[in-house]
Amino acid sequence: MEKLIVANWKMNPEDVSKAREIAFFSDQGGVILCPPVIFLNEVKKEIKKATIGAQDVFWERKGSFTGETSALMLKNIGCKYVIIGHSERRRNLKEDNSIIEKKMKALIEEGITPILCIGETREERDKKEAEKIVAEQLSIIPKSTEVIIAYEPVWAIGSGDSCDWELAKEMRSFISDSFKGRFSKILYGGSVNSENCSDYLEKSLFDGLLVGSASLDHQEFKKIIEKALN
Ligand code: PEP
Repeated sequence: MEKLIVANWKMNPEDVSKAREIAFFSDQGGVILCPPVIFLNEVKKEIKKATIGAQDVFWERKGSFTGETSALMLKNIGCKYVIIGHSERRRNLKEDNSIIEKKMKALIEEGITPILCIGETREERDKKEAEKIVAEQLSIIPKSTEVIIAYEPVWAIGSGDSCDWELAKEMRSFISDSFKGRFSKILYGGSVNSENCSDYLEKSLFDGLLVGSASLDHQEFKKIIEKALN
């Protein structure tokens, strides 16, 4: 199965020339670049082999929803994939599974592949609730629909404290055994770098990676791409 690398730029960089530069150096087949929406058009012009995606979407198609971006708009600009349910949005914007479900439906209606982020917090893992939380987050995927899943243990995101590959592998097996037929790929995310990326792909058997901060450093990202996609 072909591996996939999703680059989540989050709220970076601060201007379009830097966005163009990062896009230029990240332009590889199998890479999905998810810049802030404000840079989507320029990033699209910069790339030939990579694909563009977005970091979020609103669930309504059009109308009076100040500040929001619809799935139709994202489709029309060329997004084939959209991240939903990122833990930063679950935490900072109080997005719950019912909101994320509406976003997923809106994307599916437009033919965009959702990249559904799931994962437990450190407290939930310590309480032995990790599988329960992940199962709840996955339960919103409609039957007979295949989405991309990104398993991202919350404590490992943006912390440098990456998840042990064996622990990640256990969760990968739980997801694939319990939710067969509801996903096309399972990615790993959480402090991925050029040193640990091969472990998640070769030992934990993930189908790809969701990379945050390391995707903004083009030398580091190039190393990840080389290891992961070749
Ligand atoms: C992320 O943005 O989902 C992420 C995994 O970030 P980082 O790679 O910086 O931990």
